[in-house]
Amino acid sequence: MVLEKLSETLRNTLSKVANALFVDEKLVNALVKEIQRALLQADVNVKLVFELSNKIKERALKQEPPAGLTKKEYLINIVYEELANFLGGEGHKIDVNKKPFKIMLCGLFGSGKTTTTAKLAKFFQKRGNKVAVIQTDTWRPAAYEQLKQLGSQINVDVFGIKNEKDPMKIYKTFEPELQKYNIVIIDTAGRDALSEDLIEELKQMYVLVNPDETMLVMSADIGQAAERQARAFHDTCHVTGVIITKLDGTAKGGGALIACAVTGAPVKFIGVGEKIDAFEEFKPKNFVGRLLGMGDLEALLEKAREAVTEEEAQDMGKKFLSGKFNLIDLYQQMETMSKMGSMGKLMEMIPGMNQLQLPKDMISVQEGKLKKWKFILDSCNKNELEDPENINNPRMSRIAKGSGTEVQEVSELLKQYRQAKKMTKMFGGSGSPKAMEKMMKRMGGKIPGLGNLQMK
Ligand code: GDP
Ligand code: MG
Repeated sequence: MVLEKLSETLRNTLSKVANALFVDEKLVNALVKEIQRALLQADVNVKLVFELSNKIKERALKQEPPAGLTKKEYLINIVYEELANFLGGEGHKIDVNKKPFKIMLCGLFGSGKTTTTAKLAKFFQKRGNKVAVIQTDTWRPAAYEQLKQLGSQINVDVFGIKNEKDPMKIYKTFEPELQKYNIVIIDTAGRDALSEDLIEELKQMYVLVNPDETMLVMSADIGQAAERQARAFHDTCHVTGVIITKLDGTAKGGGALIACAVTGAPVKFIGVGEKIDAFEEFKPKNFVGRLLGMGDLEALLEKAREAVTEEEAQDMGKKFLSGKFNLIDLYQQMETMSKMGSMGKLMEMIPGMNQLQLPKDMISVQEGKLKKWKFILDSCNKNELEDPENINNPRMSRIAKGSGTEVQEVSELLKQYRQAKKMTKMFGGSGSPKAMEKMMKRMGGKIPGLGNLQMK
């Protein structure tokens, strides 16, 4: 796992939040302190750490959680969101929009350019591109052989001229042939430092190649120095993206990742091992998700993302009012309500319904019940779902067995369904707020099947 230590600390911190009794200022302060410590240990710039932690703190103390999320869940979500934003938010995809699409790599000695050339080639080849790589590093002995050998492992054409000293000449020699490929990746020479002659060489290559992307390759172990380096290379050859390599090998890789995120050149890929496959697109959200232990987090984030859309609510409202209503709809309805936390919000979203002035939080669906219902529905066949009246006693036992529930629970679900159905029939087409209000009054303020819908 990349940045194992950071990941472990963050996970521990978040599980403390999850286990806390309630969210208060003390908890938020403790959380923020631990996040600060974890990031500083991962070599993230002090100023940035404080900026980030202040933002988390401010949001955690000031913002109210959206419907459907508890304070604790929301707090964890804030940490996730802010960390992901910190690293570049959505991430930056490479748009291969011409042929050949030329990607030039640059970087210092040993940063991982040649290895990354092969990794990138494989990455694009896997996505259906015809890829060529060309070695223009005339400084490192055997650079051409190294790339040739890597290329043969992945079946990618490698161009280069052994013992040639002029990188420009190498490129010009093969330029016509390179036109046949979708993607051409150009490996270049490095130096120990960004010296005058490296700058000169890269500038000339940049003009000659006219690359569509210029990728700076940097090793994670340089930590915060990445920011300075990224800026320097950027001034030389318009870096459009950064590739951080060797993130597998250092506990301090956070420094490089975050330093780059603040330069104009975002991190687009990361190298996480020596093997050609040890390479991935850098997607800050996924990356942070993994750092925080996505397993447990996934459900929660899903929930946050799913804050019910207006459209969804309207669709459901229409179905409800039309009387066309089966078991699947019932389940979806309950699920949507549980997502929103209350039926009040649903009502607000259906045009006209807000005039009803229903009390908030009329309905709260128990999560446990919902889960059981899901199991039950999973055990029904299509015919039963669409027309629940087909579910007779033997079928009920079968469904109970299949879903690990009691016959009584299946029966209860059916009862709820029948009551809800009865109600939708009463609405039957006359779905005006007035009609609904009247009907609810007639029913003594209760809509059967949907819990206690108390009128004001
Ligand atoms: P160049 O001088 O910039 O071309 O660097 P190379 O591609 O020759 O790589 C230098 C060393 O770093 C080699 O030993 C590579 O195997 C190693 N290397 C490159 N990328 C990674 C990575 O993501 N993880 C690890 N662990 N090693 C890497
Ligand atoms: Mg090299």
